Amino acid sequence: MSEAETERRCPFCRIVAGTLPSEQVYSDETVVAFRDLNPQAPLHVLVIPRRHIRGINAPEAEDGALLAAIVRAANQIAREHSAAESGYRLVWNVGPDAGQSVFHLHLHVLGGRRLGWPPG
Ligand code: AMP
Ligand code: ZN
Repeated sequence: MSEAETERRCPFCRIVAGTLPSEQVYSDETVVAFRDLNPQAPLHVLVIPRRHIRGINAPEAEDGALLAAIVRAANQIAREHSAAESGYRLVWNVGPDAGQSVFHLHLHVLGGRRLGWPPG
């Protein structure tokens, strides 16, 4: 499949392009953040790069500036949703054992309740 075709089919590229609706909570020139469709906690936001990268294990993800932009946005979202004090969790799912289902890099921001450990 061509790169253009992959991006046309990718739900998160479609959210970035505005052709798939999402409840956005943050965006800048590098990243977009929106509420997860199937939230696992009162605060459940996904932070994604505008650029299509298939996951945190892709070589293109090993970009310090990009990672810093994603983490900065995640921490800001947690602060803005009052989770900074109570705590929150940032999660990258990689591959089948972790249940990765969307192959466009995304960082989960989870908070607003006590999160169990070990994770399920
Ligand atoms: P992962 O298992 O890490 O690949 O997580 C993908 C996440 O994307 C899941 O939590 C889904 O609920 C979420 N998701 C899938 N499609 C959408 C969408 N169109 N809008 C918001 N969240 C989505
Ligand atoms: Zn994509």
